[in-house]
Amino acid sequence: MSAWVFRGARVCGGPPTDLAFADGRVVAEAPVGAQVYDADGLIALPGLVDLHTHLREPGREDAETVETGTRAAALGGFTAVHAMANTDPVADTAGVVEQVWRLGQVAGHCDVHPVGAVTVGLGGQQLAELGAMADSAARVRVFSDDGHCVDDAVLMRRALEYVRAFDGVIAQHAQERRLTEDAQMNEGVISAQLGLVGWPAAAEEAVIARDCLLAGHVGSRLHICHVSTVGSVDILRWAKARGIQVTAEVTPHHLLLTDELATSYDPVFKVNPPLRTAADVTALRDALADGTIDAVATDHAPHALEDKETEWAAAAFGMVGLETALSVVVAAMVDTGRLDWAGVADRMSLRPARIGRLSGQGRPLEPGAPAHVVLVDPAARRVVDPAAMASRSRNTPYAGRQLPAAVVATFLSGRPTVLDGKLT
Ligand SMILES: [Zn+2]
Repeated sequence: MSAWVFRGARVCGGPPTDLAFADGRVVAEAPVGAQVYDADGLIALPGLVDLHTHLREPGREDAETVETGTRAAALGGFTAVHAMANTDPVADTAGVVEQVWRLGQVAGHCDVHPVGAVTVGLGGQQLAELGAMADSAARVRVFSDDGHCVDDAVLMRRALEYVRAFDGVIAQHAQERRLTEDAQMNEGVISAQLGLVGWPAAAEEAVIARDCLLAGHVGSRLHICHVSTVGSVDILRWAKARGIQVTAEVTPHHLLLTDELATSYDPVFKVNPPLRTAADVTALRDALADGTIDAVATDHAPHALEDKETEWAAAAFGMVGLETALSVVVAAMVDTGRLDWAGVADRMSLRPARIGRLSGQGRPLEPGAPAHVVLVDPAARRVVDPAAMASRSRNTPYAGRQLPAAVVATFLSGRPTVLDGKLT
């Protein structure tokens, strides 16, 4: 197996050093004959880990496949992604999660960890075979009906109790159904101006509060998907202070964009949960910085053109995000002085790996650690070009926008998946 040395790399923003790896692991010294990569001025981070990716396969291969989605992931600096269960068929059996897991292995661009559905067919009526998925070759640890909320409190309680046996976690898409019927965007001044049906913050917060109480009651691990409001942050802070085992993620777009973008009526800005206000964005940034929100997760949600390039009310919810996530986090968190590079590594690699119980990912770049590495040029500036993306879909909210920093190289187990900014 090949050996490499990144000459002059700044590991998590530290002083320049030679970062070497051989046989898929970080080593203290480069072996003779190692390939040298000039990393002068570049930041090395542990490979990024996404807790929330929609790869759309099986079922919507016109929007994304495991192959195209994991190419996008590698270009974004990711070495592992969790593939959400809302496929067709739904990933609610050992058979389907093993199929997705194997497709990831065949593609080889990053590790693919299937998320198992909480309920059969995402129907919210009957628990799926959580144990069978946990015991399968895919070794599922994260379960979610994402796209749908697990409405039924008794079912949610049973799911939380069930996954304790294998140290699993229930990832809740917190959306009170009745409060968001026909909702199109954040409920507030702008929804009133535009005459679009509003999506109140309380619809998210009520579910988070209920589920924190349930998780505390039964002593289980709960994860909250894509937190988007000030009030959600307050509830999480309260729950964590009480010792409830709750973790939370925020998307890059909720750290940068606001509901004012809806005034364009461009459905590229239509997303679930909706873009919120500037005050929410500030609270989310602060919560990610102080650890109340544990991790960044992309909620990469590719959609075919016909589902997105239509009028606002008819358009699908969602944005692609794998290829821009790191740059958006740099813009929202690093350039604003809220996180340093070690903090970025923590929120985009170490903590998401820990939440997903991925022992081989999200490890500090010390001798013996798996050689999952991303090299970032912090000085780069690039204008986002949807046509140049590896994802099969083009629904990025950043088209034409200049973003800071760029992924130069991604290594998976010591093997380059991206080199000089291009797929190998
Ligand atoms: Zn969701």
